[in-house]
Amino acid sequence: MKFTDFTEGASDSLRNAGAFAGDLLHPKIRLGVTGLSRSGKTVFITSLVHNLLNDGRLPFFEPWAQGRVRQVYLEPQPNDELPRFNYEEHLDALNSNPPRWPESTKRVSQLRLTIEYDSTSVIKRFLGHSRLSIDILDYPGEWLLDLPLLNKSYETWSKETLANARSELRKPLAEKWLQFTNNCDAQDAQDEQLAIQASKLFKNYLEKCRDDEFALSTIPPGRFLIPGDWEGSPALTFAPLKLPLSQSPKPNSLWSMMARRFQSYQSLIAKPFFRDHFVHLDRQIVLVDALQALNGGPQAVQDLEHVLTEILGCFRTGRHSWLSRLWSKKIERILFAATKADHLHHSSHDRLEAVLEKLMEHALRRARLQGTDVKSLVLSAVRATSEATALEFDPPKSCVIGIPVAGERIGGKKFDGTENIAVFPGDLPGNPEKALTDGFSRPEQDEELYRFIRFRPPDRSSVDGNTFQSIPHIRLDRALQYLLGDRLK
Ligand code: GDP
Repeated sequence: MKFTDFTEGASDSLRNAGAFAGDLLHPKIRLGVTGLSRSGKTVFITSLVHNLLNDGRLPFFEPWAQGRVRQVYLEPQPNDELPRFNYEEHLDALNSNPPRWPESTKRVSQLRLTIEYDSTSVIKRFLGHSRLSIDILDYPGEWLLDLPLLNKSYETWSKETLANARSELRKPLAEKWLQFTNNCDAQDAQDEQLAIQASKLFKNYLEKCRDDEFALSTIPPGRFLIPGDWEGSPALTFAPLKLPLSQSPKPNSLWSMMARRFQSYQSLIAKPFFRDHFVHLDRQIVLVDALQALNGGPQAVQDLEHVLTEILGCFRTGRHSWLSRLWSKKIERILFAATKADHLHHSSHDRLEAVLEKLMEHALRRARLQGTDVKSLVLSAVRATSEATALEFDPPKSCVIGIPVAGERIGGKKFDGTENIAVFPGDLPGNPEKALTDGFSRPEQDEELYRFIRFRPPDRSSVDGNTFQSIPHIRLDRALQYLLGDRLK
């Protein structure tokens, strides 16, 4: 063990002991909210907080339904080193006229919410209201994928990433970068411009994989897609190289320069995130855009399965020895939630839940065997659509109605952001296995008509001149019950 490991471990133990004593006086729960880019983290946190602050409809959130919640309020930001989740700005976007979706998560941020409630225990009630603070930590899921990277050498990572990029599906997207790498001699003298060019081409390839059109899962390093505060730094300016593995890197070669930067990425960027934030979480929700993958076809679904297994693997404490030394306690509960359920008619919600459960079958079973409480759920943090049945079809079709975001297209028609339309999203097969291979069943001749499109957030101020108090949602209360219900007894 290195001396730095020892001192890091000792100061972490002290920090954990301090946190434990503080928790006894003022109970807290640290809730992580993650998911890949655009999975709905910002929208989820904004709606969750708004519903709790504004008397939302939360019938499946027990303390709420039982009338035991006395007061909910936001508290000042507890950690000086962490940016605050900008709840007010995100809410302004949803409340603007016309309503807009808020800016997505680009870095880690935090918000503290406190709930005062009546306990179900007579003794506790005798002592007055109970109090629980929830520290919500919003962070990009891409960063979790860096965990397996921490045990790898630059050479292993280069070899694996190049092999992956040469696979049938990814090769066309990686073409320019692969061409560049093939023409590079790793033993040539180090050169900043070459490093910048290689890193740009590599980043471009990673971005293409995430494009809606391909919907391929993310490959680390996670900060290449979401750099946080590190944009442009040398620790983010590297790329895999084709390496003559029978040799060792020459001093001052491109190879040794890239390897050095890769190590800086590991120690300066990736490790501190896990050490300072990730290991302190008590509960976790992972948001998943399963609809996007189902829409992308079997390959995209397989890719999602892989990435979710990787993510769930991060929470298995025994798997990463470096991390388990820092872990003060195990993550107690993990919720995998398929988001944006409002794109589907409610008759498909249970089916989507079964699909998610099937998709993660093996990973979930393994996690449960290790004693982690894991659940999957379908939800919509903001409900942007209503439902209708189109009787002119035989049999009648279940539709969703909403206003497509300006610029969205269906069948050659471009929308301007004001027009209400009915969309038939297609049916999910009742058998989840079939859904995973076949996706949605839709009439072939009208394939273009059945694409998913982005809907504008709901206009809460214009219905009969009334402003709805809280943001409409689907099953947000069930998520709250699973994540917090037992701590509010
Ligand atoms: P983040 O990158 O995980 O923070 O993702 P966001 O929360 O910014 O969401 C990305 C986009 O997904 C939004 O701009 C919306 O278009 C869409 N979205 C997120 N949540 C919902 C939802 O509950 N319903 C609908 N219809 N769209 C959503």
